[in-house]
Amino acid sequence: MTPLPSPDPQAGAAVKAADRAHVFHSWSAQELIDPLAVAGAEGSYFWDYDGNRYLDFASGLVFTNIGYQHPKVVAAIQEQAGHLATFAPAFAVEARSEAARLIAERTPGDLDKIFFTNGGAEAVENAIRMARVHTGRPKVLSAYRSYHGGTTTAINVTGDPRRWANDSGAAGAVHFWTPFLYRSPFYSADEAEECARALEHLESTVRFEGPGTIAAVILETIPGTAGIMPPPPGYLAGVREICDRHGIVFILDEVMAGFGRTGKWFATEHFDVVPDLLTFAKGVNSGYVPLGGVAISGAIAETFAKRPFPGGLTYSGHPLACAAAVATIEVMAEEGTVEHAARIGESVLGPGLRELAERHPSVGEVRGMGAFWALELVRDRETREPLVPYNAKGEENAPMAAFAAECRKNGLWPFVNMNRTHAVPPCNVSEAEAEQGLAALDAALATADEHTTAA
Ligand code: PMP
Repeated sequence: MTPLPSPDPQAGAAVKAADRAHVFHSWSAQELIDPLAVAGAEGSYFWDYDGNRYLDFASGLVFTNIGYQHPKVVAAIQEQAGHLATFAPAFAVEARSEAARLIAERTPGDLDKIFFTNGGAEAVENAIRMARVHTGRPKVLSAYRSYHGGTTTAINVTGDPRRWANDSGAAGAVHFWTPFLYRSPFYSADEAEECARALEHLESTVRFEGPGTIAAVILETIPGTAGIMPPPPGYLAGVREICDRHGIVFILDEVMAGFGRTGKWFATEHFDVVPDLLTFAKGVNSGYVPLGGVAISGAIAETFAKRPFPGGLTYSGHPLACAAAVATIEVMAEEGTVEHAARIGESVLGPGLRELAERHPSVGEVRGMGAFWALELVRDRETREPLVPYNAKGEENAPMAAFAAECRKNGLWPFVNMNRTHAVPPCNVSEAEAEQGLAALDAALATADEHTTAA
């Protein structure tokens, strides 16, 4: 590990003061947040100006799939900047066409055309637009347990409480329940029953909304922010069948689950299902330069063969972002990052997290695969009462805040959301780093255990 630069608290204080004076942060009450001043990052770690190094078990916001400052990706960005730092979208540019080719080679089925965006929400916006024009229908069905992005249409189809303040009552966003056996909305006894009931529920939702009014069903292949809930076997194939029967476009959102995160290039490969549109972002270039996109099936691409696609972005397929994507995909292929993620999930993270669950009464369930895991924290394993209530704020959220603080004290930067912590390190996290993360979680879970009935 590279030695840390000497601490420089004064520089950190200056960065923080300018931030507090002028930066308006996402999803935050501006005076109630206390952002850490970050001095640098490398691989699975970042550090502050006071000499503290953190193992990033959040991968930023689940995007540094190959870690920070990979030298080959940094060099590719520098090389592209020196050669052609920018160019308008309606031109054929090497970095852009090469990125599209490499992505299309990896997406399943005939998802062979790539529309580039600057991130995940724009990918979702444009996938929905494609589905609406393709079908001539207005509505979009999506899951309550979902997050699809912060822009207007993307937040309307999102189920996460961040939708509430943003809900314009936009025509056409209809939510439904997806399978989640641990907190089954269908009172199911087992996975097969959960799958069957969830499909019946979707079929009824489609019938009662009117199949002829529904452009698309959008789902995260494995819901991420909502709790990393791999769907039961057969569910996505069942959704595919319902969509086909009613002429509905099936969109899979792989902004978080794509590009190696689950131990496959795309999570849908685990389920052998090909959507009509697949959205991606984050891991496509490990987040080094903003990039997202939609991979488009032959049939939908055909809709726009002779008629214009009514959408576009100044920076669609930005050369710096695409050069970073080309380098990232090449690095992942050369280094076997996707296979590594699968292995680290099977041999270290999965067994390690399950072992923590055995010893810590606050762990209600462990779910995931690859470098994509969630621990559901509870007050009582029998009743499954969450450690904090849904969407808890302030004092109500204190047990989770204390858990996160304890992780940071132990050198681990956790991903926490509601009553869960997600173990989502870079896909190339080493075995030793993964073990370090598990040890830090072990120590922090002791604070969560204090709130359980077993304590
Ligand atoms: N879809 C999913 C599944 C996501 O996880 C996210 C971001 N967490 C988005 C869309 C939105 O992406 P962005 O923040 O890049 O707009």
